[in-house]
Amino acid sequence: MPCSPYRRGRLRQIEKWLRKEFPTPFTTRVRIQKNTKEFKDYGATYRVGNEILILISKHLRWHVAIETLLHEWAHAQVVTFDHIENEKAEHDDNWAIHYGRIYRSFYDNGGCEDSRYYTVEKKFRTKRDG
Ligand SMILES: [Zn+2]
Repeated sequence: MPCSPYRRGRLRQIEKWLRKEFPTPFTTRVRIQKNTKEFKDYGATYRVGNEILILISKHLRWHVAIETLLHEWAHAQVVTFDHIENEKAEHDDNWAIHYGRIYRSFYDNGGCEDSRYYTVEKKFRTKRDG
């Protein structure tokens, strides 16, 4: 499987790689969506019921979207039963350690290449959102 030529497909490849290499304590979903009045950021991580929802803005350049996904995934990794009640995710030491591990694995230790071997569903193989 070559690197997906489409942003959404590429993000889905990286999401699969993250799921395998950096498991999260709760079911985690990733949605790539337009910015709205409620969602103005590059990315966000929320609790929805007993799941974690990561939003990634669809307006970002590829490399920013990828870095945002890695950043938000670290938030999803450090959620605990206590912290899941918190509305706002923090960039504390624990988050930074997880982000650092993900970052190094992706950029320095082959994750960027390895993630290319994850299959992308047909619906993510279109160019509809760039
Ligand atoms: Zn953050």
